[in-house]
Amino acid sequence: MKALAKLHAKPGIWMADTERPEVGHNDLLIKIRKTAICGTDMHIYHWDEWSQKTIPVPMVVGHEYVGEVADMGQEVTGFKVGDRVSGEGHITCGHCRNCRAGRRHLCRNTTGVGVNRPGAFAEYLVIPAFNAFKIPDNISDELASIFDPFGNAVHTALSFDLVGEDVLITGAGPIGIMAAAVARHVGARHVVITDLNDYRLDLARKMGATRTVNVGKENLGEVMKELGMTEGFDVGLEMSGVPVAFRDMLAKMNHGGKIAMLGIPSEATAIDWNQVIFKGLVIKGIYGREMFETWYKMVSLLQSGLDLSPIITHRFEVEQFQQGFETMASGQSGKVVLSW
Ligand code: NAD
Ligand code: ZN
Repeated sequence: MKALAKLHAKPGIWMADTERPEVGHNDLLIKIRKTAICGTDMHIYHWDEWSQKTIPVPMVVGHEYVGEVADMGQEVTGFKVGDRVSGEGHITCGHCRNCRAGRRHLCRNTTGVGVNRPGAFAEYLVIPAFNAFKIPDNISDELASIFDPFGNAVHTALSFDLVGEDVLITGAGPIGIMAAAVARHVGARHVVITDLNDYRLDLARKMGATRTVNVGKENLGEVMKELGMTEGFDVGLEMSGVPVAFRDMLAKMNHGGKIAMLGIPSEATAIDWNQVIFKGLVIKGIYGREMFETWYKMVSLLQSGLDLSPIITHRFEVEQFQQGFETMASGQSGKVVLSW
């Protein structure tokens, strides 16, 4: 089958002819229709330090997708051939304490589709049926293909009550922008989002941010004054992974504020702990999506009118994958979707 694979231990990604994966007793075989390119795929593409340590070569990568069930193992129930599905990319062990308590997102033995095992940039993908999620008819293939990062945004944004609250989002990458849309949809008051990239800030404004701040040109403190915010933000969503953005967020939180952290800093980061202690801040780390509460919430948010479609800014046939990866690398895009 046709697949996009990391064939060599160097920058790039290659179209390859690979074996169709074998379907185990508890697995689904999914015929892929659309895939989206994630920031993680860009790390693998650029072959950074993390990828060199993590990604086996050769391997098919990718974990954002939608497709249809083509075959299934003999133990699988609840699915039939032809069902349209996306899937949770974190494969959990099922036997650790958290798994057994139904807190699968806290499994200590998680492995990743397209990271530790063959991924979705292929004509066919195999995952445990447990990880598959059926997509309702009124949700498009395109939107279903980005449920993985949309789920990161939803998990993070809905970690704390946002109704009537003032929310600061640092980082207007695709996930930060989707989080802004979710925050506004569920009833936040000010949804302020920061970045250094005007293309992305413009997209965030279109999708529900009430104020965008290019921190290269504007001062966040001044913006808060302009908005009449005399105390500080109630909720912070850290979605840049950039230490200076997190430090600025801590300084701009109100006492008793709550922060959900999704962005992954590339190295150990020092912060002013006095901000955390004397303000009584709550800081929560976020990894992946809740299984499967986040998935149900994603469907309900879309069905209750959340318009996520502007986040998909570029579409390519899979043969044009090189252009797709270059578009993502340029920073002048939202999500990039490839059709198989
Ligand atoms: P992204 O890299 O596209 O977005 C990050 C944004 O931060 C970029 O637009 C960048 O311009 C911006 N930025 C850089 N410096 C900034 C600053 N000083 N202030 C504000 N913004 C700044 O990433 P993404 O795909 O949207 O993901 C967001 C973050 O979440 C990344 O760090 C990613 O690694 C991480 N992530 C975590 C999980 C998880 O499970 N915890 C899952 C997916 C992604
Ligand atoms: Zn587990």
